[in-house]
Amino acid sequence: MKSSLVILYHRQPYDEYTDKNGQVRFRDKKSPNGIVPTLKSFFSGVQQGTWIAWTQVLARQKAKFQERINVDDANYNVRRIPLTADQVKHFYHITSKEAFWPILHSFPYHFTYESSNWENFKNINRMFAEAACDEAAEDALIWVHDYNLWLAPYYIRQKKPNARIAFFHHTPFPSVDIFNILPWREEIVDSLLSCDIVGFHIPRYSENFVNVACSLREVEIVKQVKVADTSHMAPVGMALAEQRAVTQVSYKGRTVTVDAFPVGTNPDHVRNTVAAPETQERMKAIREELGDRKLIVSAGRIDYVKGNQELLQCYGRLLERRPELHGKVQLLLACASPAEGMRVYKTAQNQIEQLVGKINGKYARLNWTPILLFTQSIGMADLMSYYHLADICWITPLRDGLNLVAKEYVIAKNGEKGALILSEFVGAAVELPEAVLTNPYSMDKMDASLDLALDMSEEEQKRRMQAMYKTVTTYDVDYWAGRLFDLFGQTRPNADLNGAEPKTLAGNAS
Ligand code: UDP
Repeated sequence: MKSSLVILYHRQPYDEYTDKNGQVRFRDKKSPNGIVPTLKSFFSGVQQGTWIAWTQVLARQKAKFQERINVDDANYNVRRIPLTADQVKHFYHITSKEAFWPILHSFPYHFTYESSNWENFKNINRMFAEAACDEAAEDALIWVHDYNLWLAPYYIRQKKPNARIAFFHHTPFPSVDIFNILPWREEIVDSLLSCDIVGFHIPRYSENFVNVACSLREVEIVKQVKVADTSHMAPVGMALAEQRAVTQVSYKGRTVTVDAFPVGTNPDHVRNTVAAPETQERMKAIREELGDRKLIVSAGRIDYVKGNQELLQCYGRLLERRPELHGKVQLLLACASPAEGMRVYKTAQNQIEQLVGKINGKYARLNWTPILLFTQSIGMADLMSYYHLADICWITPLRDGLNLVAKEYVIAKNGEKGALILSEFVGAAVELPEAVLTNPYSMDKMDASLDLALDMSEEEQKRRMQAMYKTVTTYDVDYWAGRLFDLFGQTRPNADLNGAEPKTLAGNAS
């Protein structure tokens, strides 16, 4: 049976492993957070779906390679694109992470062109597109995710001119001056303009895309709205605010809907994890170890865009400026290491480890280590325990598409006291103006925001937290999904998807 919903996301929705008898098996992903459970949940409203992802294979495995798998009798299959280690290296580790990533995050200094393999990138995108066309029913919705698959819509449109194609961009989309550095900009923009809907987290990113499209192609603006009239996002007064957003453009006789709406998180899943007896046990033990110290938590990945160095330097200055806090504060920095083989991240990891060593070396006592650094990924129960107990959640990337950690923290606190320090340069900032907003490029602003959070009265913490709690629980992942499916419905109706209420995996995300 052909699929009425085809999702293209570069990662598989399951972890693949080989058991002790040499059999390849699949299990739920170790880390259930992030975007994967959200995308999986979209299949709940359809009869048959397909998820398309790449998987790495050895040349000798190709003959016996199982292209299509089904796990636990799910109503969707996973169609796998087999790639060799060399293809993965050039597609993901080099072209995506060394050329696209720095441009997307406005770090042109890190952009490297020479090592990129554009032909390989095009081939892999073509393979994804061909698989999508194979799997899709005549009126299917084909939903492509993120910049790794930038060119897939173009190839799909070539093969299936009437396909219904949507694209969601999970990273920031940079300003026109930065984006146009990419030597492959025209091909990327032509592909995005061949979609029916192109979605971004916030109006700043969608506006940047429209500006890029208008700079390179004769695109006409069809519709523009006031952000304050159509969303909960701050329309003015902060780094990423936009007052107006274009919602429809036309190009070569086709209309493209442009949407800006941030991905939400799954409040029930966070709440259930916090309430689970094992998490409660864990929290008791952590609380006892902490004593009366204030806990400051920061969670993310090792990546120069996450601003870990600026955060650590700020913490070093705090201990220098306010010796009365020695032994009274505890910074827990969860900074998961990236996959092997990415050169630029190795440097970032070394810098973080050196700084942590320097600060701990200078201030540590037998009974107090100022910074606890975790470079292995922390599991959901532990992470939620830290969030719930944290007096402060400190999220100050130099640039971040959205930042789910900030939203998870607000939910894990359950509307109780706690302070969120948030960089103005993350997408979530325009949704959460009640956070302590800061500018990670300014030492003074960073110092002032940390002082403000440390010294904030309980009443003010609660007031801000309750406002943010209302936002993240209202504009959650169900809301995001519902909005997108509504848009699809308005764009071009499809029998199987109409009225489908996408349900998230509340409480059992996997
Ligand atoms: N996370 C985790 N373990 C860790 C650190 C982070 O499971 O040690 C999770 C975190 O809870 C969040 C996700 O990883 O759901 C990170 O998403 P975010 O949008 O903040 O950043 P991204 O990694 O997508 O840039």
